[in-house]
Amino acid sequence: MFIDNCLLVTEKALNLQKIYSEKMLLENLEKLAKDKQKENKKFFQRLKKRTPKRLDLVMQELHNKEFKQTDCLTCANCCKTTSPIFTEKDMERIAKHLKMKVVNFKEQYLRVDRDDFHVLKTAPCPFLDENDNMCFIYDVRPKACSEYPHTNRRKFIQIADLTIKNTEICPATYRIVEELKKKLS
Ligand code: SF4
Ligand code: SF4
Repeated sequence: MFIDNCLLVTEKALNLQKIYSEKMLLENLEKLAKDKQKENKKFFQRLKKRTPKRLDLVMQELHNKEFKQTDCLTCANCCKTTSPIFTEKDMERIAKHLKMKVVNFKEQYLRVDRDDFHVLKTAPCPFLDENDNMCFIYDVRPKACSEYPHTNRRKFIQIADLTIKNTEICPATYRIVEELKKKLS
C-alpha cells in the first residue's frame, strides 16, 4: 500500500513537472524558436540539397511519437495566435453547419489576405472556447486545422520553410524539429 501511494505521488509530481515545463516552453517558445532560426534554416537548406529517401518515414515516426505525448487541449496556441486558410469547400461546409449563407459567413468572420486567401478577421479564433480549448466547429473545421502542424505530410521537404515558422507557434513542431536534427545530423 505504501509503495502504491509513493508511486501515485511520484506520478503526480512528474505530471505537474510536465505541465510546468510545457507552460514554460509555451511562454518562451517564440524567443526559443527565433534563437534556433539560423541553425534550422541551415539544416533544412542542407536537407533540401540532399533529401534522404526515408525523410517522410522519419517525420511520420517523430510526429506520431510527439502527438502520443502532446495534448493539444492544454495548448491551443495555433487557434489562439494564427489563422487557418479557409478554402471554398471549408466555407460552404462551415456556413451550412452554422445555418448561415456563405456570403454572410465570409462577411462576419473572414478577410482576404495579401496572398488572396480567406483567413480569420480576429485572433484567437472565434470558434475556440477559451475555457477548455475546445473547437465549437470541430467536426467541420477547416482542412488546414485538421492537418496542422503538417509534420506528417507527404513530401515534407516542400514545407520546410513553413515548418520553421511553425516552430514559433507550435511547441510540438519545435520538439519534432529538434528531434529531426538529432536524428539526421
Ligand atoms: S476552427 Fe477550430 S481548430 Fe480551427 S483555429 Fe478555430 S478553434 Fe482552432
Ligand atoms: S498543434 Fe501545436 S500549437 Fe496547436 S494545439 Fe497542438 S501543440 Fe499546440
